Amino acid sequence: MTRRMELRWGATTHQGRVRQGNEDAFMACPNLFVVADGMGGHNAGEVASAMAVASLSAGAGQGIKSPSELELLIRSANAAIYTASTTYADQRGMGTTITAIARLNNDESESGQRFELAIANVGDSRTYLKRNNELMRVTLDHSYVQALVNEGFISIAEARVHPRRNIVTRALGIESDVEVDISVIEVQHGDRFVLCSDGLVDEADDEEIDTVLYSHETPQMAAEDLVTLANDHGGRDNTTVIVIDVIIYDATPAGGMPVTEPMSNVDEVLQGVISEESATESAAKKPRFAVRKMVAVVGVIAVIAVTIALIIG
Ligand code: MN
Repeated sequence: MTRRMELRWGATTHQGRVRQGNEDAFMACPNLFVVADGMGGHNAGEVASAMAVASLSAGAGQGIKSPSELELLIRSANAAIYTASTTYADQRGMGTTITAIARLNNDESESGQRFELAIANVGDSRTYLKRNNELMRVTLDHSYVQALVNEGFISIAEARVHPRRNIVTRALGIESDVEVDISVIEVQHGDRFVLCSDGLVDEADDEEIDTVLYSHETPQMAAEDLVTLANDHGGRDNTTVIVIDVIIYDATPAGGMPVTEPMSNVDEVLQGVISEESATESAAKKPRFAVRKMVAVVGVIAVIAVTIALIIG
């Protein structure tokens, strides 16, 4: 049996109800999906997020074969933004988050045996996976409040309404190199991924996001309704959403029906993510450890510095 994977997606962005402009940027194409949330004065945030998307788009070329390739693309985007921000006075201090999904184009996937996506994250834009009717986060925010959650100081619910929830502890363009979180997920028919900027998660909790995803058949309708949800709840920030549906089907001549297979539960998937991380070695990062280290070593002084440099708006 020859299996094929098709990705169907919908995407939209909105400046929200408060901001004057939109500093988010996104890209959705058959093999690469990117959401970037820029920050910096005098429209520099817009420049940073657009540079991140353009850099990945140009670098992706004929496709991405491995998670480390995706990581390298993001690190070169970081270098380009950093160079611009240290060269042009009006772009000084600009930065951007990034979360990306790349369809891995390798021998195994071409032979139809398994289909893998690489998922990358820097900052507090997020990627979710809805599988088997359960919504889970597949990226870990690099933010002040996530660090507090990791340390057990506050709950996830408290993080959502924390006054400092918009402080990111990692972003592209701030230093000459950047640590990128990368994981690989083997996808199943029926998987639905969501990439979003913090404009969505600031206004809606995971349960509300899940409800919208459940009630919309098409990814475009789901993406648009998630942006509407954020705006209905105040729309205090720009909101960008990409929804991607995974379709796996039997491509042998007599086939054509979706392939159904046993669905793994959330715990198994998360374990899969973690073991993939440790298996990919050079590309693998341990976000939890990195965040801890940030808090322990650099501490309050860094948080104040990052606040000045990166606070959104
Ligand atoms: Mn934002």
